[in-house]
Order: sequence, then C-alpha cells, then structure tokens
Amino acid sequence: MAKIAYVGLPAHGHTNPTLPVMKELVQHGHTVLYYNAAFFQEKVTPTGVDFRALPEPLPTEREISEALHEFINASLIISGMSRPLTRYLIDAFEQEQPDLVIYDSTAMWGYIAARTHSIPQICCITTFVLDGSQGAIGLGTMVRFFWSALPHIPKLLSWRRSMAQEFGKDNSGGITEYADLNIVFTSKAFHPGNNFIDGRFRFVGPSLEPTLRDGDFPFEQLRDGQKVYISLGTVNHLDNAFYQAVFEAFADHPAQFILSVGKNTDMAQFGASPDNFIVRNYVPQLDVLQRVDVFITHGGMNSVHEGLYYGVPEIVVPHQFEQLLNGKRVVQTGAGLLLGNTRPYGKVTAPELRTALDTLLSNPQYQQNAQHIGATLRAAGGYWQAVKEIETFLYGSAAHLPKATISQANISRN
Ligand code: UDP
Repeated sequence: MAKIAYVGLPAHGHTNPTLPVMKELVQHGHTVLYYNAAFFQEKVTPTGVDFRALPEPLPTEREISEALHEFINASLIISGMSRPLTRYLIDAFEQEQPDLVIYDSTAMWGYIAARTHSIPQICCITTFVLDGSQGAIGLGTMVRFFWSALPHIPKLLSWRRSMAQEFGKDNSGGITEYADLNIVFTSKAFHPGNNFIDGRFRFVGPSLEPTLRDGDFPFEQLRDGQKVYISLGTVNHLDNAFYQAVFEAFADHPAQFILSVGKNTDMAQFGASPDNFIVRNYVPQLDVLQRVDVFITHGGMNSVHEGLYYGVPEIVVPHQFEQLLNGKRVVQTGAGLLLGNTRPYGKVTAPELRTALDTLLSNPQYQQNAQHIGATLRAAGGYWQAVKEIETFLYGSAAHLPKATISQANISRN
C-alpha cells in the first residue's frame, strides 16, 4: 500500500470533494498525510487521514474563500502564501518520502515540493478547467479580467521570477500546473466546451458522501406537495436584500420553502418567517436536495453539482464570476435559469424570482434536463472512480475492493 500526501487549498469548495476520496483511500489500506490549514482538521480527520496543519500565519478561511471568486484576487492571495508553504512541504516530503503527491489545482506549493523530490503527482480540479474555456468565459469577461489584472502584473512577474530562483526553473511555474493525471470533479457532459483538455484529464463527477456531512433538519415538518430549497452557500450568504426578495416572492406561494441562510446570519433580524418557510442557519444539503423540486442557489460549484446530481432543476443567482460561469452552464444544458447575472451580481426582484420558479415548476422539461445531467454526473463514478484512477496511476490497476458506499437508492427522489 502507498504513502500518499494530499496537499489542499484551505477552502470548503476545494476540500469537500476530497473527503470521500481520502476516506476510500484509507479504507483501501493507504496511508494518507493530509496537508491543509489547521481550521480544516475537525472536518477532515473523520476520513481517517493523518492530518498535518500547514504553518501559520495563513489568510483566514473567509479571506481565502472570497479571494477565490475573482481571478486576480485568487492569484494574489495564492502567490502571497506560496513561498513559506513550499519551503515547509519540501522539508516535510524530505522527511516523509511519500510515494505520491495529490495536490489541489490551486495549491502550487504541492506540485513544487513534489517536483523538487521527483515524487509522482496527481492534480485535483474542483472547478471547471479554465484553461481552454475562454469561449465559455466570454470575451467581455476576459477583457475585464486582463484590465483588472494589469496593475498587478509586474508584482506577479517578479514573484514568479523569485520562485524560479529559489525552487528551480523546472520545479516552479504558474499557479496552476497540471500533472500526468488530472482528476476533474464534474462530468464531461456538464463541462463547457474546451480546446485544452486532453487524455491526461479524467472526469469523475462530483465526489459526494452524505454520511461525511454535518447539519440536522426537522424532516418531519415537510409537507406533501412541491418543495423548494434556497441557499447562497457558505461564503457570500450575507445578502439580506436577497432574503427579503425571497420572502416577498414566495410568502403566499403554494409550495413549501427551505431556506438556509448561512452560519453567520442572525435569523432574528427577519422576524417571523412566512408559514410556508423553514429557515435554518445550515442544513444537511445532500439530504434536503433529495426531497425538493427546485433549488434556488448562488451557483457555487458544489451546490450546482449537488442539485443536478439528484436531478433537481436550478435557479442560479450568482454572486461572483465563477458562479456566473456555473450558472451559464446550467442554462446551456436546459437544467435551469439564471437571474441577477449582470454586475453587480445577485440583484433580483421578487417578481423575477416568482416568475422563474413558476416557469420551472410548470415546465417538466427543466427537470428532465436536470435528471439527464444528473445521470452523467452519477455515471462518472464520483470518489470511487477517483480512487480507481489514483490506484491505476500508482500500480497500473486498481485494488479490487467492492464498490463503496453511496447508495444509488438514495438517488431516487421523494
Ligand atoms: N452546504 C450545506 N448546508 C448548507 C449550506 C451549504 O451542506 O446549509 C454545503 C453544500 O452542500 C456545499 C457547500 O456547503 O457542499 C457550499 O459549497 P459551494 O461550492 O456550493 O459554495 P460556497 O459556499 O463555496 O460559496
């Protein structure tokens, strides 16, 4: 069995998909050293990995998550973290001698340290592959990106030069460098058209395991009839205007609504919510999604996948650029609608929300399309397929263990 080092980026969206993969690797008998910021220790250790906290100081969880939503901020925050983390990992790998390094596509300290010691590498990609996706991003957005990046280019170029000086030209490169095997957590059918992706990229679909998720919910309070789940995710959820619009739009709607407002939102400010609402700070989203007819989401990559995985059509109200890209893909596949998609993102009115919801509820084509995409996401194999790819990379074939553990029975809804 192998000694595997996983090197992550401290953000929930990048960490969640790795949890079932790590659990499965551990169950196969591998030793997994999981390198990430200390605040992920509690979330990650139930998988059975040997957690290793990256050295502080690091940006806070919130700073990292927010920066990731704009290209230039992501580049700045990651380049700012890179040098001490790379030094730390080079020393750690010297001592630990792992057989394989798996790194998140944005955790460049992982690939530089692995290359330094000539350890085989696998890259994990929890977003769309942006290289080659310029068509999906759109010319206007590309121009805006380069314009906003312009003042920072000298700083980034000098950072890159100094990284090459310290760690070697062959070992260091751009923020994202791909490996001989790149695991992408979506399906080929859901990924936008791309002229860069080649045989080194394997689409394994979302990596979901409800038993590794937290949150509780009064399921006995759910009524018969149509149900709608609403969430703006865990990062940019402090949008009171959005919640007010939601209450105004749906207070007299015949459907029942489950609203997750995020852990940092004070629910008291809303007063009594309408009778057809169950409002919570956090819910077990995978369990909730299996019981609803429509998902109104901010369009985070995990949420978009999770809804479609269970065949739920979506209304995407993006609050950042990456979410806009995800929402556009939902629209292109016919699995939902996009609202509030011009800058500043996320601005919707009650009538717009109401019209969009009634459109989805009255037109079964959206659900059929969501189910079609969901089938491609499930067929891609998820964490089990990811582990198979990893073991095949290591040994030329995968360990012959029984297919674990997400029950396909869970997928039938209602
Ligand atoms: N989530 C959850 N319960 C909630 C809200 C969110 O379990 O009440 C989970 C959700 O299932 C997803 C993650 O938090 O896996 C949010 O990630 P996403 O990429 O959708 O958005 P972000 O929070 O990064 O903006």
